[in-house]
Amino acid sequence: MNAVMNTYARFPLTLVRGEGARVWDDAGNCYLDFISGIAVDTLGHAHPKMTEALSAQAATMLHCSNLFHIPKQKQLAEKLCRASGLDAAFFCNSGAEANEAAIKLARKYFHDQGSTRRTVITATQSFHGRLLSTLTATGQDKVKIGFDPLPAGFVHVPLNDLDALKEVISSQTAAILLEPLQGEGGVNIADAAYLQAVRKLCDEHGILLMLDEVQTGIGRCGTMFAFEQAGIKPDILTLAKGLGGGVPIGAMLATDAAAASFGPGTHGSTFGGNPLSCTAALTVLDVLEEESLLENVNARGEQLMQGLKALQPRFPVIREVRGQGLLIGVELSVESAPFIAGARERGLLVLAAGPNVLRLLPPLNVTEAEVDEALVTLITVMENAQ
Ligand SMILES: *Cc1c(COP(=O)(O)O)cnc(C)c1O
Repeated sequence: MNAVMNTYARFPLTLVRGEGARVWDDAGNCYLDFISGIAVDTLGHAHPKMTEALSAQAATMLHCSNLFHIPKQKQLAEKLCRASGLDAAFFCNSGAEANEAAIKLARKYFHDQGSTRRTVITATQSFHGRLLSTLTATGQDKVKIGFDPLPAGFVHVPLNDLDALKEVISSQTAAILLEPLQGEGGVNIADAAYLQAVRKLCDEHGILLMLDEVQTGIGRCGTMFAFEQAGIKPDILTLAKGLGGGVPIGAMLATDAAAASFGPGTHGSTFGGNPLSCTAALTVLDVLEEESLLENVNARGEQLMQGLKALQPRFPVIREVRGQGLLIGVELSVESAPFIAGARERGLLVLAAGPNVLRLLPPLNVTEAEVDEALVTLITVMENAQ
């Protein structure tokens, strides 16, 4: 009997320590970490600035409740609003909670206008979390089986198919919720032209555009938020994973017009935005700037992308290499699991995104030498798979 519930098919590996992009297992073996806790460890492991900031905050105050003003929460909200062009932030503890807050806000926004609009349109192959609301929003049947009855009011359409979207928009549509790049669903990029057209449709129909940047946000795709690359702005934005660099924190940002529907007593979170998690997020934002990490994401992303694309002629098993910044998918013509195991056995940790896509998510401060090392390892893995 395992005292931990069996909700994860775990790798046969116990990680106990990390430094930068490297982690060590309990037997002392070293690995290059191109998973980063699934896009969480933005600054890699044990970044000295993070250690120092968290230690100092732990020695001052961990938590005090949102019944009180929290200076670092205010500071973080202001920084995220400035960076995103949105007006107000709500803090929670995870991506699913951030999306739940977004869905609740969209419903309440229309309720407050006396409108009956409640439906949220999302994309097939999307992933929005494991809460009842967010697994219903998720456009993959596998996460829903056995959890009925599911909440009403969600519709799915294929990504990048504008006609399909136009067909389901109705007088009941409250919001469209999209990932600018689907991480879990296979590293599928929403075309810039599609996002621009969706923005326009939302404006024409008075629909809220909600972007789930839980995985893509905080520099992962080479800009602070992936939506910047399409030249659009959402009405509601959700963040989590990389925001705290390893400390749990989620955020939902909105325009003033939408945020006005969340007054005292409408929504809340005991832990959300406490002094410790806000310290972590502020440190991530500080280090991103101090160490010019967006530049690094673009340079290392390009290096990794070109390095992988150069392997295509040699290894026909590689169907396509795609992604943005340091969120890169390698679509294979076969299942990815043996390649993931092969890489692990050679000291490189990579992830899947669906059955046949390898997903690479190094920390944003990964070095040129580390990317080269990962490429060399992947070549060995590919050679051995032939
Ligand atoms: C991981 C993820 C979530 C869920 O985040 P949790 O913190 O696991 O609840 C939601 N949306 C996207 C795009 C994600 O990648």
